[in-house]
Amino acid sequence: MEREKNMSKKRKLDSSAQDSLYFESYADVTIHEEMLADTVRTDTYRRGIFRSGEQIQGKAVLDVGAGTGVLSVFCAQAGARKVYAVEASSIAEQAARVVRLNGVADRVEVIRGTVESAELPEKVDLIVSEWMGYALLHESMLNSVIFARDRWLRPGGLILPQRAELFVAPINHLVAEERLSFWSTVKGQYGVDMSCMTDFARSCIMNGEISVQPVSVEDVLSHPCRFATLDLHTVTLEQLKRVSGSFCCRCFGSSSLNAFCVWFAVTFPGEDGTQPLVLSTSPFKPETHWKQAVLYLDEPVDVVQDTRVEGSISMFPSEQSSRHICIHVEYTIGEHKQTSKTFSIPDWGQESQ
Ligand code: SAH
Repeated sequence: MEREKNMSKKRKLDSSAQDSLYFESYADVTIHEEMLADTVRTDTYRRGIFRSGEQIQGKAVLDVGAGTGVLSVFCAQAGARKVYAVEASSIAEQAARVVRLNGVADRVEVIRGTVESAELPEKVDLIVSEWMGYALLHESMLNSVIFARDRWLRPGGLILPQRAELFVAPINHLVAEERLSFWSTVKGQYGVDMSCMTDFARSCIMNGEISVQPVSVEDVLSHPCRFATLDLHTVTLEQLKRVSGSFCCRCFGSSSLNAFCVWFAVTFPGEDGTQPLVLSTSPFKPETHWKQAVLYLDEPVDVVQDTRVEGSISMFPSEQSSRHICIHVEYTIGEHKQTSKTFSIPDWGQESQ
């Protein structure tokens, strides 16, 4: 799942207007192309579904937000008796075609509408959904999965994936440093000194936005720290109003800490002693379309080996739009005083409006 394009945080829209814009963003091919082309994402779901084959065979499945229908077809291929592929956006029409093309139309029923309004003829044994947004919780689609769990999952039923974890690490995001030092190179190129632009560039780049970008292994300054875990079988809507946790890391060596990096992993259950299967968006793992969420500090801070970086993070929906995530970080780096900063997802909608 990916960014929605048409939402505005400037205007506070009522929730049904927000939902219409959100679902419209899934009506276009681009977003589905990006998700299907993300082989880490789609292959891990495929393997996660097939390894739960015994629990799927002969069973009823609900695919929350079926999109092009890919996960529903996987479930049918894995032996499901019936799959309810619920999709609110008009991409549902394409899902129905994909289902027919793959010869599983007798077992996969595409239902156009929100999962909150869907009426199924039975409870299901398993829920599958790809609900993760940037920094895990952007888009707030997990709320719909929880609704579906409470309404339609049989007691003891399975949710794929079953667990989500959030991680943080201090980083030196070199790409940002290079963008700043660029202004000192202009004189060499054109004979015009623009080094005075550096502070302005810093205030533009190191702002309060959650910047979705790839972070490389070399940028990461300490072992990552897991600050929150969500068990999809038990997490409640109330708990999702604020997901928080603390972290404490020690730096590997001398560097300049200019940002925190946040990412997530989701886990599919292991079968009969096999290791659980993890879909990770870590900078230490192959890149996915979620990349990482980069939270820039206002000013970089020098660190050395074993500098302690500790604090707490909380994630909550923005007041303007419940589908936009905000991240509040309180942190202490070494002997520096405690600082805090709140970040939000930029208003991509303005670009296309
Ligand atoms: N399962 C597909 C698509 C994932 S993207 C895949 O893995 O490729 C998430 C999809 O969920 C989008 O198509 C979006 O329109 C849909 N969606 C989000 N919230 C929904 C809700 N409450 N009810 C129905 N569909 C929803």
